Amino acid sequence: MSIIFGPVPSRRFGLSLGIDLSPEHKACNFDCLYCELEPAKPVDHIPNPPSVEKVVKEVEEALQRFLDVEVITITANGEPTLYPHLDELIDELNKIKQDKKLLILSNASRIHEPQIQKVLAKLDIVKLSLDCATQRCFKRLDRPLKSISLEQIIQGMEQFRRVYPGLLVIEVLVVKGINDKREEFARLGQVLRRIKPDRVDVGTIDRPPAYNVEPVSYERLFELSRELHGLPVTIVSRHFGQNYFTNLSKEEILDLLAHRPLTQEDIAYLFDKQSQAMVRELEREMKIKKIKVGNVEFIEKSSA
Ligand code: SF4
Repeated sequence: MSIIFGPVPSRRFGLSLGIDLSPEHKACNFDCLYCELEPAKPVDHIPNPPSVEKVVKEVEEALQRFLDVEVITITANGEPTLYPHLDELIDELNKIKQDKKLLILSNASRIHEPQIQKVLAKLDIVKLSLDCATQRCFKRLDRPLKSISLEQIIQGMEQFRRVYPGLLVIEVLVVKGINDKREEFARLGQVLRRIKPDRVDVGTIDRPPAYNVEPVSYERLFELSRELHGLPVTIVSRHFGQNYFTNLSKEEILDLLAHRPLTQEDIAYLFDKQSQAMVRELEREMKIKKIKVGNVEFIEKSSA
């Protein structure tokens, strides 16, 4: 199996070259209901991991072929922080990455470990998952190894944020009937405001999941994300309807943007044509402005 995949375009991070640190088997310490890989018992190590030399050589070759790559993404058929030589690998990738950004996609299970925090702090972008704010929901949805506690993960994220100057993104994946309750999101909002990530990506199931679970609608994601006020939230979903908001006045749009910055995509999905025209007018009047977080542009109310 190949260690390198892509490049694939990622709307949130740019053109991404993927590194799979567990190319032979799924190796994860979670067994999430929504996983896109096959169901598998959680494990605490990657069996037969590729050597650092092999990974670096393949990345070097790929970078010579694909000159437009913007981000090198460390991932696994499972959890990449289980890779035993992660520290050495990140040092080597930092030497050869040129102007590309180095990103890891992790389930955050080891973020409370000081050594893992030190290693991840060498990356340009760290994306961690946090689907639930309560242990009950976490156990039901992410089905981790028994030794993993949500409280430790949350504390680890707070500590990591304090020492990490790079781009910290937290991803929340919503599954119908499990973590799609307002109360769960209200608690998540409290926790996330303490962690202070640069961005929160809220999404739902997009591809066939490991178990029999269902996505929620774009509108539901939007309603839930209102509990995450004060945070730059993006909604990542293909399950959208249209025209959640119709005939909004300028004041209503400004009020909405003051509470929750929206992406251009949100506006295209949620606003009817007339309300979208109002947004363009507000932009011309400089009552709203654009800010960029990673590869994502938000529209928010101007402070003046
Ligand atoms: S953490 Fe990721 S790889 Fe592991 S089970 Fe969950 S979705 Fe799958």
